[in-house]
Amino acid sequence: MPPDLYEVLGVPRNASPEEIKKAYRRLARQYHPDVNRDDGAEERFKEINAAYEVLSDEEKRARYDRFGYAGINPNAGGFGAEGFGFGDLNDIFETFFSGFTGQPRRGAASRKRPRAGRDIRYDMTLTFEESIFGVEKEIEITRLETCEHCQGTGAEPGTTPRRCPDCNGAGEIRHARPTLLGNIIETATCPRCHGRGEVVDTPCKECRGQTQVRKTRKLRVTVPGGVDDTTRLRVVNEGEPGENGGPNGHVQIFFHVTPHEFFRRRDNDILLDMKINVAQAALGAKITVPTVYGEEQLEIPPGTQSGTVFKLRGKGAPRIRSDGGSNSRGDQLVIVQVVVPTRLTSEQKRLFEELGRTLGGADVEPQKAGKGFFDRVLDFLGGEPN
Ligand SMILES: [Zn+2]
Ligand SMILES: [Zn+2]
Repeated sequence: MPPDLYEVLGVPRNASPEEIKKAYRRLARQYHPDVNRDDGAEERFKEINAAYEVLSDEEKRARYDRFGYAGINPNAGGFGAEGFGFGDLNDIFETFFSGFTGQPRRGAASRKRPRAGRDIRYDMTLTFEESIFGVEKEIEITRLETCEHCQGTGAEPGTTPRRCPDCNGAGEIRHARPTLLGNIIETATCPRCHGRGEVVDTPCKECRGQTQVRKTRKLRVTVPGGVDDTTRLRVVNEGEPGENGGPNGHVQIFFHVTPHEFFRRRDNDILLDMKINVAQAALGAKITVPTVYGEEQLEIPPGTQSGTVFKLRGKGAPRIRSDGGSNSRGDQLVIVQVVVPTRLTSEQKRLFEELGRTLGGADVEPQKAGKGFFDRVLDFLGGEPN
């Protein structure tokens, strides 16, 4: 089912021509593909324009009111397709803008559509510590900027561009295309002046008539603590320049954190593998554990198995984008591995032999399938407390 044209514009069926025009302007500005990069914005924009084409025309509107789609497109119910004959978005937008600003549609003023600048990607490498504590960095980006020598005219100072003779300064060449709904005016960018409406006989020698030059700029960037490889930082408005008054793009910073010798990240938690010996595991011990915030004491209870995970609360990475402030951090998870000695002194060997005699064959039995060492670690990381 094609959508109801009144619903497309969000107006009641008895809306006045003025109300329809107002709704159309508001929606067209919101969904124009130059302004709105969301998925589906262009489709929506075409819908809005197709609806407006019918509802702004007294005769077509009357036919639509009486016969629905059959009244405006006897061939088929296709919507936004050939039947409506809207080929050129540019033309629609210009019509709309010239009406919007109240300026007469003429020459360069109405031709220039605002267009947002592109984003620039910057890849930043951080040490593990920098990713946890944050850092200030100076970065260098290369972007287009308006040529200062010619002030963006493209003409060498002292000379002036002249009106393009091919399009007579309009920047575009128009022709009518017949459709079921009457002639639709289509426009094409003037191939000689590429839409500028002017030709330059003496190009600026700095930018070779391109009006823009590549510049390398330094930017100071404050990286907040807690970022990781999945975080993006946006430096607003420092990207490629917008055109015709459109906003600049942004600089998007992608992070690459160098792996740490001991620590690993898992979301906001920091993971550390810690080796303990058999005696510590069996008898319990107090051990010293490194964290990014300094050393911590950890109590190992008697009878601790390999793969046991201990949690040091609040010793993980700061949570960015949360309102919790500086006290909102992840945890450090210490995964204990019991190390069996491979080289024994004769004294140690004697003690183990003695131990072996007292233990006899105790604990020598098949392990139940399922919960091995790594399963226990994964269980813990999955959120189960130890
Ligand atoms: Zn220049
Ligand atoms: Zn031209």
